[in-house]
Amino acid sequence: MITKKYVNTITDEKLENKLFQPENISTLEELLAAARREYQTLQKIQSKRRCNSDRRIKSQAELESVFDEVKEFVDDYLGFHFKDKPKCSFSRLRDFPDVSLRRTTNIFYVLGIGEMLISGTDLMSGEPMSFFSIAPAVVLGLAINNHYAIRNTNAYILESDRILLHREKYETLVPKLAHEYTHALQGRLHVLSSRRKECRNFMEGHARGVQRYVARSYWEQKDNPAFMDFTIREDTRELHLAYRLLCDRFSQQPHKILVKGLPKETIGQKFYRRKNGTVDPHVIGNSLMLIHEAQDGNDIYRQMLQGEYNF
Ligand SMILES: [Zn+2]
Repeated sequence: MITKKYVNTITDEKLENKLFQPENISTLEELLAAARREYQTLQKIQSKRRCNSDRRIKSQAELESVFDEVKEFVDDYLGFHFKDKPKCSFSRLRDFPDVSLRRTTNIFYVLGIGEMLISGTDLMSGEPMSFFSIAPAVVLGLAINNHYAIRNTNAYILESDRILLHREKYETLVPKLAHEYTHALQGRLHVLSSRRKECRNFMEGHARGVQRYVARSYWEQKDNPAFMDFTIREDTRELHLAYRLLCDRFSQQPHKILVKGLPKETIGQKFYRRKNGTVDPHVIGNSLMLIHEAQDGNDIYRQMLQGEYNF
């Protein structure tokens, strides 16, 4: 079982040091070349035939049934069968755990709509357009923007033991559910959850590893590459970013042919880097896990939760 001693070996600083080694540059190049090939092949397949089904998961009952299916798959893979399962629902404004974001969004809605009614009445009565006529639209735009971000959230909330998911097609939902459910399992291992702010690279990398296993297994079992689509795109992006970071650190030029046309840093990742002064933990965690998975196979994710795998 995972112990305090084991958790001390997987802190953000320790895993970052493991990744930022000059010898990892050539390994990342090999992994990136393989991910790039797979990413491009999948894009070609998808452009030729429609891989995504029309099965969009819309209702809570459908979501729970997909969750039960994915949970069983992940439990069998990782060898953990906790009796209590987390709650699982679509991301909605009223359930969102960030109270201040929820409150701000509601206030913006009330102000925006109220002001809009007032300025609409002014305009109808012949008042000239002014800054105060545009302000309500700006406020309402902020509310809609927040609301949109909330509904697009995929997350596991430790405090309420709840998985929140964006409404997706079945093929995209399955790997995302596997990722968030892995966070729930990490949370059930109390040593890890008590140190979650210091082990973000581990937690995100580990969840990406389980997500990849589930995505690949579903692809094989159901003969449908759409299950791998989201995961291979993120793997390619994260390996790409890690490769550039290592090249920067050790003053090497990235191979232009290798990085040409690859998915770049997202706005969310840029925002995270500026806000926290560190790289998105998915980038560090997933790249390091991919290096270890290539060496030791995909049983490492089970071994990690048993506190048996040494980086
Ligand atoms: Zn995650």
